[in-house]
Amino acid sequence: MESSNLLLVGIVLFVLIDYIGGALLNRLNEKGKDQPLIGEAAEIYNAEEYAKSMAYGSAQYRFEAVTGLVTTAITLVAIVAGWFAWLDNWLRDRIENELLITVSFVAILIAIWAIGNLPGSYYSTFVIEERFGFNKSTKTLFFTDQIKQLLITLALGLPFLYAVAWIYQELQGQFWIAAWALFVAFSLFMFIFGTRIFLPMFNKLKPLPDGELRTAVENYCQSQGFPLSKLYEMDASKRSTKLNAFFSGMGKVKIIGLYDTLIAKLTVEETVAVLAHEVGHYKRKHVYSMFAWSNVQTLLILALMGWLLGNPDLSKALGSDIQSFHLSMIAFFLLFTPLSTLLDLLSNSFSRYNEYQADQYSIDTYPNAREHMYSALKKLSRESLKNLNPHPLYVKVHYTHPPIMERLANLKKV
Ligand SMILES: [Zn+2]
Repeated sequence: MESSNLLLVGIVLFVLIDYIGGALLNRLNEKGKDQPLIGEAAEIYNAEEYAKSMAYGSAQYRFEAVTGLVTTAITLVAIVAGWFAWLDNWLRDRIENELLITVSFVAILIAIWAIGNLPGSYYSTFVIEERFGFNKSTKTLFFTDQIKQLLITLALGLPFLYAVAWIYQELQGQFWIAAWALFVAFSLFMFIFGTRIFLPMFNKLKPLPDGELRTAVENYCQSQGFPLSKLYEMDASKRSTKLNAFFSGMGKVKIIGLYDTLIAKLTVEETVAVLAHEVGHYKRKHVYSMFAWSNVQTLLILALMGWLLGNPDLSKALGSDIQSFHLSMIAFFLLFTPLSTLLDLLSNSFSRYNEYQADQYSIDTYPNAREHMYSALKKLSRESLKNLNPHPLYVKVHYTHPPIMERLANLKKV
């Protein structure tokens, strides 16, 4: 067998294994979720709410089963039938410049991806979320969001891709160090300013008004020597009833945002306890370690690309005799799937560990945080119909936060 055909078989196998593994894991998780409602679980849901959470989980499971199958089938057909090579060829007939071919190729794929995802997101928002009472979005807001997201992705992604492809053109196998420097600079910028620049395009952020909550938050932050530059209330309720809080930025440009839905449902003490958890992520340097870890992953991927991308078999496996940066890159990422799953496992376990540390920080620094955090987490779970019994293997693969029952048990420990 020709080596490019061997590569094609490898790519198809990886896509299949990834799909089948994911589908089996989803099924395992779905089958195991209906456990007796006893102990702490009974403090979260009554029988009726519990039944509703089961139905919500099943609806999501069925949705993922269908979208996963369709996406995988289309991906496999595109690979085997040579659709990527066809698009490359079509562009070559019209564009001379190699870099512009790469950028146009990726732009078309992103646009197809965005349009292809529309029916699924529409169904998920206006049928599933709607049925369970979460959806607050209107059709106008939904479509405006989708268009904005696509435009932002293209506006940021394409110039960046152009730069990376240009570096590759100039340096070939040695491109990865220079490309990495560019990635680090870009992600540092996004890390510090991303939320500040892009969040206001989707949501209104208004300073948390003076009052009991603001005073409590300011007092807490002052007690921790945590200079609070921006404390916002965000109008999340225009899209969903689900509650959340976030922290973003670095150094002097730190932002804390509280969803209006969270402020409405939690007491002042519960909100400060949740916020103390967010401050804990900052004080325990999780912000920096996660940033560093993500850049290490990028370095690893780019180094592998530097090593492998020069091989003409990558483009050939997708059906093209003309070696190109974009075709080789797609073949590379398809082959990279198993390693990327492994990296995700590491990232998730790292993140779950950090969550416990942040909970501990809240307990250590805010009076009675243990009880407030406990009741806040129960409310958060109830309000989003969380699965109380996810399968342990599913947790390892997908959860960035510990499952709710484990987190509650940890809060009870002295
Ligand atoms: Zn956290």
